[in-house]
Amino acid sequence: MPMSSCSAWRLAPAAPSDQAGSLFFQRANTVEPIDLRSDTVTRPTPAMRAAMLDAPVGDDVYGEDPTVNALQRRVADDLGFEAALFVPTGTQSNLLALMSHCERGDEYLVGADAHTYKFEGGGAAVLGSIQPQPIPQEADGSLPLDKVAAAIKPVDPHFARTRLLALENTWHGRVLPLDYLKAARDFASERGLGLHLDGARLYNAAVASGVPAREIARHFDSVSVCLSKGLGAPVGSVLVGSAALVDKARRWRKVAGGGWRQAGMLAAAGQYALDHHVARLADDHSRAATLAMGLSGISGVKLLGHYTNMVFIDVPADRLRDLDVHLRAAGVRISIGYLPTLRLVTHLDVNDDGVARVIEAFKGFFARR
Ligand SMILES: *Cc1c(COP(=O)(O)O)cnc(C)c1O
Repeated sequence: MPMSSCSAWRLAPAAPSDQAGSLFFQRANTVEPIDLRSDTVTRPTPAMRAAMLDAPVGDDVYGEDPTVNALQRRVADDLGFEAALFVPTGTQSNLLALMSHCERGDEYLVGADAHTYKFEGGGAAVLGSIQPQPIPQEADGSLPLDKVAAAIKPVDPHFARTRLLALENTWHGRVLPLDYLKAARDFASERGLGLHLDGARLYNAAVASGVPAREIARHFDSVSVCLSKGLGAPVGSVLVGSAALVDKARRWRKVAGGGWRQAGMLAAAGQYALDHHVARLADDHSRAATLAMGLSGISGVKLLGHYTNMVFIDVPADRLRDLDVHLRAAGVRISIGYLPTLRLVTHLDVNDDGVARVIEAFKGFFARR
């Protein structure tokens, strides 16, 4: 029984007659584990791998990778911005945005539970000498604008210079309301602040609210989008902004060691993801709803909520460890930490059957006692 999300994949034995077998990792002939730890665990589909193999490439530090250039142009145009920069990770994309908006001794205002504050190793402070000012978030992920206003520092040598407001959409799966985005835009403009969006899951927000991604993005000065979450690319994020901001970000990317060369094969995966994996995010959302419904009927499981592709549940803390063992044996992976609150994430590699198997595995466990 495979125990990790990776162990069901193996290099197919060399088979001279099987051209694809020598080029691609093939699924082993075992039951696939269902991995709900995150939507980062998706693996490129055979069609995506084929698109990667065929991609024309060049040296991107010289600006000569045609596939990278095409991806950057496409995302900039789609989201309504002058320019875009393809980068390896969402963390680097956010870091470059913060370092392009802010200088040494500047400050950004950010949610206390936001990725750009809490989950990026303190990079803005470590590498950018930028001070974060965390603001407690509302349950919907928004930062109350009166609290944001109160945190803006006076212009005085005692204080860091407040330069930027950073939001996240979706946040823990929740879609920020469009009227909040409009209010945040007006607020930032009035107060002379830049406005950055960590839109790692921007397309989930767009699909869930039935508006084009650019309708969300247009309120911001810069937006970072992950191609490697629910969109299913193996690697890559894109930062969009003005040409001047993206020029700065490109310089900081080089400084951070992120200037890459024939990255077109990765950009091709991103192009493929944008062509084929955006509308289908709706399937992830409906599967999360199905999963939430199925789990909510189980005594021992407390459903806290489900938002886009995420389901949040509580289970009794003293049963967490046994639950983990039981689920692994059933071929289901979830993140089990110290908290009884669990986050289950649906994505490209979880189908209807998988959702049913997860519900059965939970039922089996909680029926035992
Ligand atoms: C995953 C994620 C990131 C960072 O992306 P990496 O590619 O893992 O560095 C940033 N923000 C949010 C909200 C994310 O979920």
